[in-house]
Amino acid sequence: RMGWRRVLRVVEELEEVCATPVDRLRQVVDAMAVEMHAGLASEGGSKLKMLLTYVHDLPTGNEKGTFYALHLGGTNFRVLRVQLGGQRSAIIGHDVDRQPIPEPLMTSTSEELFDFIASSLKVFVGKGDDVSELSKMGKRELGFTFSFPVKQISFSSGLLIKWTKGFAIEDTVGRDVSQCLQQALSRKELDIQVTALINDTVGTLAVGHYHDEDTLVAVIIGTGTNACYLERADAIIKCQGLLTTSRDMVVNVEWGNFWSSHLPRTSYDVDLDAESPNPNDQGFEKMISGMYLGDIVRRVILRMSQELDVFGPGPSKLHVPFILRTPLMAAMHEDESPDLREVARVLKDVLEIPDVPLNIRKLIVKVCDVVTCRAARLAAAGIVGILKKIGRDGSGGVASGKARPKPGRKIKIKRTVVAIEGGLYTNYTLFRVYLNEAMAQILGEDVAPYVIIKVTEDGSGIGAALLAASHSASS
Ligand code: ADP
Repeated sequence: RMGWRRVLRVVEELEEVCATPVDRLRQVVDAMAVEMHAGLASEGGSKLKMLLTYVHDLPTGNEKGTFYALHLGGTNFRVLRVQLGGQRSAIIGHDVDRQPIPEPLMTSTSEELFDFIASSLKVFVGKGDDVSELSKMGKRELGFTFSFPVKQISFSSGLLIKWTKGFAIEDTVGRDVSQCLQQALSRKELDIQVTALINDTVGTLAVGHYHDEDTLVAVIIGTGTNACYLERADAIIKCQGLLTTSRDMVVNVEWGNFWSSHLPRTSYDVDLDAESPNPNDQGFEKMISGMYLGDIVRRVILRMSQELDVFGPGPSKLHVPFILRTPLMAAMHEDESPDLREVARVLKDVLEIPDVPLNIRKLIVKVCDVVTCRAARLAAAGIVGILKKIGRDGSGGVASGKARPKPGRKIKIKRTVVAIEGGLYTNYTLFRVYLNEAMAQILGEDVAPYVIIKVTEDGSGIGAALLAASHSASS
């Protein structure tokens, strides 16, 4: 059958273009390290923003006391209370209250939005306080995780660059969001100090470092993707003179916007980007994160359907952007039934294509595999790029430019932990397997055992409270 041959060719071509042999991944590693360098050298020097966080000290595990955190990240916001007992204790207890932001507030005024948040916080705080505890607690402190682009001006303040994810409140743009919250708390007569303003990746790093002080890098791979890491102060060239201290600082890479000619890009990626609301933006993220993987697969199946009529003559949902969510793609990919029942179910129920023959269903599983494998391996290359920038990839760091030591010469390799979070990594087993496999391949067997990937939980919540604690005078 001609049609079958052409469909097969679509999948083979995809496989060829998406191939990520280790040599190619090493080029991506180098490009990441080079771009990080450029982004640190000057403002706008790279597609990587390399944002300053003013976080010099990460939690050590000695923090003590009760601290609050508030996370505004999307359609929900959460408030938390975290109790810390010192000595790297398990976090004694934390209560969480999650609430949706009423839709009208997402496009109203700053005052209305922050008043609503402050009121909810007040109710939450009231529920937890018993009077005896309150009297010895003194002033309450809060870490604020704000998952929107912010130009940080100090550890506890930063200006909103722009709203995303459906929020559109003009009068907040350009203002200090920490102050907006603080003022709302005052209006509600709530005696809480906003002492930390953080990005969610920094929260992940904080949680990782609380449990293990070799944690120097944090990565989030969920709906979107980003990373941060601990950098030497003298390497942050663009702000020399601006900083009063010469201590290490956490840098928010904003790696979703990374780009390099070494990335294996297909026509599907080009189309996805062109049709997105932010073309030419977030190129790395569009190849890697959960928001996009399902849609890349949808585009390939649509292409296959143009070559063969087994997808039916009738209308299908294949033309609908983002209808194939990444968890559904994962379900097809991980379908272990011999007759690929789950694949058939998704095709029928979600895409409205019934009766796709088994050999085509097998090809669709292959497509999911190719797309996820590429994503996971590129994410691994990104991580090793950061390790290379800080000299933890076993090669001596990009700055020194030294070649690998001669075989037989012993070098001392330090243990490095990478904290990782996000639904794509934690829920999608094959993604996780591919990422870890690629890390080992790129680093090689001598170095790989010294790099440990550790899943952390709720950096955006607990991490903010930990940072408020580690910067508190009373802790
Ligand atoms: P967010 O990044 O939205 O703050 P998460 O870190 O929980 O939240 O990530 C959620 C994302 O993870 C989803 O958008 C989805 O793309 C991906 N995801 C969640 N569950 C699965 C799954 N079972 N298989 C594949 N991807 C998943």
